[in-house]
Amino acid sequence: GGRSYSFMLRTKNPCGKVSNKLYLTMDDLADQFGIGTLRLTTRQTFQLHGVLKKDLKTVMSSIIRSMGSTLGACGDLNRNVLAPAAPLVRKDYLFAQETAENIAALLTPQSGFYYDMWVDGEQFMTAEPPEVVKARNDNSHGTNFPDSPEPIYGTQFLPRKFKIAVTVPTDNSVDILTNDIGVVVVSDENGEPQGFNIYVGGGMGRTHRLETTFPRLGEPLGYVPKEDILHVVKAIVVTQRENGRRDDRKYSRMKYLVNLWGIEKFRSVVEQYYGRKFEPFRELPEWEFKSYLGWHEQGDGNLFCGLHVDSGRIAGKMKKTLRELPRYVDPLNVTAMACPAFPLCPLAITEAERGIPDILKRVRAVFEKVGLKYNESVVIRITGCPNGCARPYMAELGLVGDGPNSYQIWLGGTPNQTSLARTFMNKVKVQDLEKVFEPLLYYWKHKRLTKEESFGNFANRMGFEKLQELVDKWE
Ligand code: SF4
Repeated sequence: GGRSYSFMLRTKNPCGKVSNKLYLTMDDLADQFGIGTLRLTTRQTFQLHGVLKKDLKTVMSSIIRSMGSTLGACGDLNRNVLAPAAPLVRKDYLFAQETAENIAALLTPQSGFYYDMWVDGEQFMTAEPPEVVKARNDNSHGTNFPDSPEPIYGTQFLPRKFKIAVTVPTDNSVDILTNDIGVVVVSDENGEPQGFNIYVGGGMGRTHRLETTFPRLGEPLGYVPKEDILHVVKAIVVTQRENGRRDDRKYSRMKYLVNLWGIEKFRSVVEQYYGRKFEPFRELPEWEFKSYLGWHEQGDGNLFCGLHVDSGRIAGKMKKTLRELPRYVDPLNVTAMACPAFPLCPLAITEAERGIPDILKRVRAVFEKVGLKYNESVVIRITGCPNGCARPYMAELGLVGDGPNSYQIWLGGTPNQTSLARTFMNKVKVQDLEKVFEPLLYYWKHKRLTKEESFGNFANRMGFEKLQELVDKWE
């Protein structure tokens, strides 16, 4: 038989930020196409092992469509940009994360090849801040390849992989000194970010019994005002692009260039591309190892919880638990209730608990159709008979079983459950619910007084007679 090649696939997530949707996608992909476990890496990305060649396209396109990326996660270019993962709501932390994202965008390969290959040309995540585009295209100091689709990388890319981390003073959770470039947010006495201290020339890789290869700490390059950061990063990358060794991969990381030249010469070459001089490195407090495990104040009244994952390998119970945590819950489901009804309750006339998941999905589809936003919601409650165990008479949209597969519709409850709903229609067949929901939600969207007017208040203000007329006229 033919050989099946198996691949390791790595994602790129600046600051290690992952949406619930992407997490669930990765979790599914690990089960379906990988080895059933997920690996969180030391550079804040996912690794998926054991993906077969024939499945690569499916896996890659699933990741891209869930707003993730593998673009630039491997190869001789800038890798995932680190920033402290703690979701602290503090100006310097937020600024570090924003800066990491902008640097990642700046150094992302530009040619459309990646999307052509994996999602048939469809582009994702293309919205970039204007300052990123400007910095990438700026050729005022002769840094660019103006005719190449890759203005920074050209056709040859970098001599070797390139690593960048951003952090705030004292927080060394990102191992700042092990990066090609280490960027540290410097704030004024009011906590307002002003600029950055920059380290260069860190790196770990070495070869056994070859003393000319060695791990090296980053060393201070200088301070730059915050608006210059993208230009400075680019100037450093270009310095390595033009001068890093390409003849021997063992010596091609930027640390060997910094080591060979010494920091003074390295600085003066970078300054030529940057077009300005560095300011003196700002004095900052000592670095600390920060653990974010357990519960912490986030700074905005909320708490966050750090979980320990042994060596970043998510498997077994931990995998199940984490899957539950980011589970996607539609806001409609958050406030909805249904009674047990069939098959458990002898009084049931029609479905409630078994029917509500589908009905909520259909309501969500109507929301989308009439242009209501994802975060807008309506309190929906469904019972299988008029006994009303799930309290439908308090709902903004209550469905009360009144025949086989049919419901009485109640309107006029409020989101905070302070007023009684009233009967709006009888005997609406379950398959016909859209004929009622669509006009009601459409007119709520277009005729409400303000965004804050709830569906229940809107129904009461309009009056049921008027609403009935709108439903009857609806095509
Ligand atoms: Fe049973 Fe009716 Fe109560 Fe539902 S509302 S649980 S159908 S009694």
